[in-house]
Amino acid sequence: MAEARALTLDDSVEELAGVGPRLRERLARLGLVTIRDIVYHLPSRYQDRTRVLPIGALRPKMEAVVEGQILDSHVQFGKRRSLIVRLEDTSGTLTLRFFYFNREQQLRLSVGRALRCFGEIRRGPQTLEIVHPECHFLETLTELPTEDALTPVYPSTEGLHQLTLRKLTQQALVVLRQDTDDTRLIDELVRSAVSPAVSLPPLHEALTLVHRPPPAAPLEALATGSHPAQLRLAIEELLAHQLSLRRLRQVTRCRRAPRLAKRALLRETLLDALGFALTAAQARVVREIDRDLSRAQPMLRLLQGDVGAGKTAVAALCATRALASGFQVALMAPTELLVDQHLRTLTRWFDACSVEVLGITGRLTVAARRKAYARLAEPVPKIAVGTHALFQSEVRFGRLGLVIVDEQHRFGVDQRLALLDKGADGDYRPHQLIMTATPIPRTLAMTAYADLDVSVLDELPPNRRPITTTVLPETRRDDIVARISQACAQGRQAYWVCPLIDESEVLDSQSATDTAIQLTAALPALRVGLIHGRMKEPEKSAVMLAFTQRELEVLVATTVIEVGVDVPNASLMIIENAERLGLSQLHQLRGRVGRGETPSVCVLLYKGPLSETARARLQTMRDSNDGFEIAERDLELRGPGEVLGTRQTGAAALKIADLSRDRALLPAVRTLADRILAENPALGDRLIQRWLTNRMEYAKV
Ligand code: ADP
Ligand code: MG
Repeated sequence: MAEARALTLDDSVEELAGVGPRLRERLARLGLVTIRDIVYHLPSRYQDRTRVLPIGALRPKMEAVVEGQILDSHVQFGKRRSLIVRLEDTSGTLTLRFFYFNREQQLRLSVGRALRCFGEIRRGPQTLEIVHPECHFLETLTELPTEDALTPVYPSTEGLHQLTLRKLTQQALVVLRQDTDDTRLIDELVRSAVSPAVSLPPLHEALTLVHRPPPAAPLEALATGSHPAQLRLAIEELLAHQLSLRRLRQVTRCRRAPRLAKRALLRETLLDALGFALTAAQARVVREIDRDLSRAQPMLRLLQGDVGAGKTAVAALCATRALASGFQVALMAPTELLVDQHLRTLTRWFDACSVEVLGITGRLTVAARRKAYARLAEPVPKIAVGTHALFQSEVRFGRLGLVIVDEQHRFGVDQRLALLDKGADGDYRPHQLIMTATPIPRTLAMTAYADLDVSVLDELPPNRRPITTTVLPETRRDDIVARISQACAQGRQAYWVCPLIDESEVLDSQSATDTAIQLTAALPALRVGLIHGRMKEPEKSAVMLAFTQRELEVLVATTVIEVGVDVPNASLMIIENAERLGLSQLHQLRGRVGRGETPSVCVLLYKGPLSETARARLQTMRDSNDGFEIAERDLELRGPGEVLGTRQTGAAALKIADLSRDRALLPAVRTLADRILAENPALGDRLIQRWLTNRMEYAKV
């Protein structure tokens, strides 16, 4: 019998033992298609199951292995039925809490049994707790050996177990060991990014170590990501990201785009319809964009402007240039609420210009959608406004000349690219304008948006009154209710924002629904509306419309209203559990008020006691109304995850690098990227392929 061919990293995951069609499909959901993808699917963290901790030594937020004897086990009936098990060792007792359990499990967890369990320690009403621990029954205590090395935890998806991922990476590492790729060149390049005193392992060694840390590997270093193996990989990953964005830029620059000529008439008509004069910053940015649009290469420009700076008007003015030249414009927004609002605004503005504005959302009926698609397919100038529904495969644009992406921080770079592909016509690509209210400090912008030119809208319209921000403990709710009643009596409106409903049942977030009920009772003279992410889209838009039309005085909302919503008559914003939200998010939410001519107030409610950092963060909000300043502060206090938003370009996709921790490396990484692009572009492509398989699709010339 012929010997089986040795596997290579380029082979499909299906070649690994245990991978059938179902598992393959699940792996694909994580972007894992080849064995190489598995090798580069790195643990997001580690668990220490190497020793059993005494219960008395446990602290909240630790993940720990404990062993003990069951002291008590009973079902508690309350808000939710749960099984409560009390576990005791010689140093203390711990509560195990199960929300999902069957009769058999309940019987097995009986008084007197010895148990080893693992899980995250939380503060409970009486003792520390573990919710849904992993359990092993023991015949006598300490008979099971503990793990001898740290346990890797991989990013996963529904139906994909950690054990499966561990088995697959184990096999993939065997394949990696046989890989004959010469990595000396890249090892050397990566080393040149750090001081010669730091010794970084070669690529394969580093990969093996992070997947399977040896027993002696220091937990501290691995947990903080400062182990040389992690540093080695982080530099390479940052380099791959930088290269992919730069490549995208190169590739896009050598495409062609329609030159959008200046035709004054449409623009003049729109300027009249706006009903306000542009700020100097708006006028300048429009000129910058015009210059790009008049070129035969696709524009790739990021427009940063603080909340309320008037980005929509800039977008509309730039759209006139495409429309007047006979092209269509697509405006993509992250939520249906925002799409509705853009539709209202743009329809009003463009009515005077006789330009059609079409809404494409997920909630159109099949017939309406078919009709809208048909209208888009005609090569007639018009504006399409939509959510990501815009880049679904059935959508065809007749003659797309300009793509505008609003609130980019809610989209990933790949979604943005997909829309660019939509308008592709042979070698032609539409121009692209990306708008964001998340101000990004320069070093980060150069990394996260290396493929874009940047314009900044650094001036608010003149009619704005600054927002006064106060920070109060939630015990002062009654005062606030009085304040709402006062503001509404004067014809104003108020938002009351609660963090997400039931994001996790263990989190004690006050639900928006409860708040709406309480406020309705406390404010009988006022109409209180409720909007949250679990409502159906038509319901949400109806509530939002009612608030816009002043049929509601108070709107209780989750963070679904975070981006873009514009109701100038609302002048009071209350944000509960403010200590939980990121500063940029708070700034976005606060930006929903202060849009009209009345002085506005934002109240940040917190649940004490506050940590030192939390206090400093809330103070920043009170002291500053400037998005850039807040972002800089946020970066100092909490790191870039916060500043960039979780789905921000690159940041979300980073497997091992951390823009905050590794910030000092960024200049060296950029220099390296320059060198590789100039001297060895093929090596650059290999790096992108390794770290960002999907991104490569777009980078093909
Ligand atoms: P953002 O930059 O946050 O997207 P918007 O485009 O929603 O801001 O604008 C906020 C509000 O300011 C809107 O009601 C808009 O009509 C108004 N606005 C925009 N530009 C000006 C201006 N130059 N003068 C007065 N009001 C303006
Ligand atoms: Mg906006």
